[in-house]
Amino acid sequence: MKALIDENLCTGCGTCIDVCPVGAITLSEGKAKVSDECTLCGICVDSCEFGAISLPKVGTGELPRDYETYRGIWVYAEWRHGTIHRVSYELLSKARQLADKKHVPLASVLLGYRLNGLERDLFNYGADIVYVVDHPSLAYFTDEAYGNVLAYLAKEYRPEILLAGATSIGRSFIPRVAALLKTGLTADCTDLDINEEGLLVQTRPAFGGNIMASILCPYGRPQMATVRPRVMEACRLAETRSGVLERVSVPEELFKSRIEVLEETVCEGPSASIVEADVVISGGRGLGRKENFRMLEELARLVNGAVGASRGAVESGFADPSQQVGQTGRTVAPVLYMAVGISGAIQHVVGMQGSRIIVAVNKDPQAPIFNVCHYGVVADLFEFIPEFIKLVKGGC
Ligand SMILES: Cc1cc2nc3c(=O)[nH]c(=O)nc-3n(C[C@H](O)[C@H](O)[C@H](O)COP(=O)(O)OP(=O)(O)OC[C@H]3O[C@@H](n4cnc5c(N)ncnc54)[C@H](O)[C@@H]3O)c2cc1C
Repeated sequence: MKALIDENLCTGCGTCIDVCPVGAITLSEGKAKVSDECTLCGICVDSCEFGAISLPKVGTGELPRDYETYRGIWVYAEWRHGTIHRVSYELLSKARQLADKKHVPLASVLLGYRLNGLERDLFNYGADIVYVVDHPSLAYFTDEAYGNVLAYLAKEYRPEILLAGATSIGRSFIPRVAALLKTGLTADCTDLDINEEGLLVQTRPAFGGNIMASILCPYGRPQMATVRPRVMEACRLAETRSGVLERVSVPEELFKSRIEVLEETVCEGPSASIVEADVVISGGRGLGRKENFRMLEELARLVNGAVGASRGAVESGFADPSQQVGQTGRTVAPVLYMAVGISGAIQHVVGMQGSRIIVAVNKDPQAPIFNVCHYGVVADLFEFIPEFIKLVKGGC
């Protein structure tokens, strides 16, 4: 979409050309002409004393003119340290169902450098086509280069739906892609479906999780959504499923980035993996002292989990801010989340309510955490956790 010129009113004075901050307006045969670079900022509308420029109305029920040229579903395949991120497989499995429902092809997009072989499993999880851009400038993730390349591919191939993981990387650059494509994006979806009109129904919690909102993007293409890891089931269709592998060359200028990555260091430590871990053992202010977190670390080690914390614990100096779960911390959705000595304030709950099983340990039977947990233990944590560790060590 771009600003509209009424040629009957345009005098070709050029004022709009001077004020356009992105250089999207030129003069052609004495009339202003707006290019696709237009960001709909509206400065030209205000500057035109003849009322010749207007912005298109959004949400009026008008589909984009070229809407029928968009076809197929895409999943952005995220990878790290030589392996595809599990969320990409989860998304491919869901997208396979959506593509079958719409009778359209499912494609996956892989961006990086020296990616040989990574595409194989994308086929096994349901992709019909894999587009690969393999270039030294994509060896490390940068928002600009990755965003430019993905947006370019989407403009060229015109998928009607584009999905990505709501990971740190997805959250960082997918909004940029949506902005470059001038379309909508629903972040952090928990479910996806296709409605009777063939539109993507994007479901996500709203108002602190009190309602589930179903969001449509009828007038923008592609319809874009991100989905958190572990929300959907990954389903491998075959061991050696084949498909079309298309290596794509894109213009060199797309790789330009203002960021130069000098090196990549894998972050290790108790907080490194709370977002990725299958088990998160989180402690709250109820732990009383930093040293008491060692109990949780021991338990986490035994179950191959990671240690999280409430903001209460972080503010008391018991845990590192990077371990904080919640509204102003990280969002986790492990298979098992254990909240130990955490009251269950809404700001904490929004960061962990997507966990498959929630166990709460609290000495106060009225603690709000008991309203959200699947299993509640009313006990003094200093008695319960050491006994629980003994049980786990004993193989129970
Ligand atoms: C804008 C904003 C953003 C916020 N963001 C976050 C966020 O991202 N994450 C977050 O966690 N909070 C966040 N908070 C803070 C949140 O409101 C709570 O204050 C915080 O979660 C409380 O932490 P807590 O449950 O550890 O502490 P408390 O509320 O003090 O609860 C401690 C709990 O431990 C129990 N307990 C004490 N001793 C024992 C024992 N021996 N055995 C068993 N149980 C025991 C108590 O019964 C109590 O329920 C935010 C607040 C605001 C205003």
